Amino acid sequence: MALDPETFDALIDTVRRFVTDRLRPLEAQVEADDAIPAAVVQEMREMGLFGLSIDEDYGGLGLTMLEEAKVAIELGRTTPAFRSTFGTNVGIGSQGLVMAGTPEQKAAWLPRIASGEIITSFALTEPEVGSDSGAVRTRATFDGQAYRLSGTKRYITNADKADLFTVMARTGEDPGARGVSAFLVPRDLAGVSIGEPEKKMGQKGAKVADVHFDDVVVPAENRLGAEGEGFKIAMRVLDRGRLHISAVCVGVAERLIADCVAYATTRTQFGKSISEHQLIQGMLADSKTEALVARAMVLETAAAKDAGKDVVMESAAAKYYASEMVGRVADRAVQIFGGAGYIADYGIERLYRDVRLFRIYEGTSQIQQIIIARETIKRGG
Ligand SMILES: Cc1cc2nc3c(=O)[nH]c(=O)nc-3n(C[C@H](O)[C@H](O)[C@H](O)COP(=O)(O)OP(=O)(O)OC[C@H]3O[C@@H](n4cnc5c(N)ncnc54)[C@H](O)[C@@H]3O)c2cc1C
Repeated sequence: MALDPETFDALIDTVRRFVTDRLRPLEAQVEADDAIPAAVVQEMREMGLFGLSIDEDYGGLGLTMLEEAKVAIELGRTTPAFRSTFGTNVGIGSQGLVMAGTPEQKAAWLPRIASGEIITSFALTEPEVGSDSGAVRTRATFDGQAYRLSGTKRYITNADKADLFTVMARTGEDPGARGVSAFLVPRDLAGVSIGEPEKKMGQKGAKVADVHFDDVVVPAENRLGAEGEGFKIAMRVLDRGRLHISAVCVGVAERLIADCVAYATTRTQFGKSISEHQLIQGMLADSKTEALVARAMVLETAAAKDAGKDVVMESAAAKYYASEMVGRVADRAVQIFGGAGYIADYGIERLYRDVRLFRIYEGTSQIQQIIIARETIKRGG
């Protein structure tokens, strides 16, 4: 159920001030340290950011998708690594449990996920299994009492600090997606180990690492949904996650456009501010127009999801458009800043690198195109 408008406005206002006054001044430090300060993480917990999407019964804020998208737009106005800190708890790390968990599983985990006491990760990708995610090789074999889980997951966000993984593993002999089941795997089970965090192009402060499962004994009651339902659960989780990511893309684009306006109206060349040169105005107009389109797509799709409509195609289209859009906006921002756009002190090159990821994770742009085309053909237009 939606929050009352006053409470929601107050939440947006709090998040906006947190982003502007607290997070933005720390962006360069996060980049240099490749870490989010512990005090900031604690403030995020106190604000309820880890539980945005989790039902109030389990201690979350229980936002609708539309409300969550609006909050995500606000959070997009700073280094995306800040959002990543709690992004898995709000999205891919918790939503399998929210959508397919039993009352016992929910009661056992959701309150601590919502409070940020524990961190969650979503483990689908493997060294040999990326876009073709129904082909997972990690195997969970039932031995009559428990599942024995073995395999390696790759590029898992927040793996370095996660306490609980949603793991997709092959249980049956069925080939492809039909043989995949989902499991809740606590990090402290014997045989779970985490690799060294990867060196990345951007989003410093957000870590990804391999997760290894070496004959891990997973209790049968930790399976999410029925055997063979794991891939479906993963796809439902990603449908929702794509909308959240699209909203973040809109926020980053709006931030970059505001930075461009601030710079272009103060930087003078040929005797006038560069914002008075029409070729600069053309870039600003293109960025603004595209950001508005993406905003409308995200909010309309989020509202349709709240109304119970099938938004598989629309979520994929929003992710495809918004992630490509913010790439173009970031590229123009570097151009508008000129040499300064390429210099670290101005922060534009950092965001240019940060946003590149949005076209890759939670399904690449090519995978979104495939989904959009498949659903469009299925619907007859
Ligand atoms: C920073 C980061 C964080 C991540 N976090 C997580 C996480 O938390 N959990 C998780 O499970 N995964 C995570 N991932 C993995 C991410 O989802 C995958 O990298 C992504 O899905 C692409 O898979 P891949 O890297 O194996 O590329 P591949 O699938 O090998 O794709 C390579 C290229 O081929 C293209 N391609 C593939 N198939 C087709 C096709 N049928 N038609 C046309 N083109 C195609 C792709 O679009 C891409 O351009 C993360 C990745 C990164 C980099």
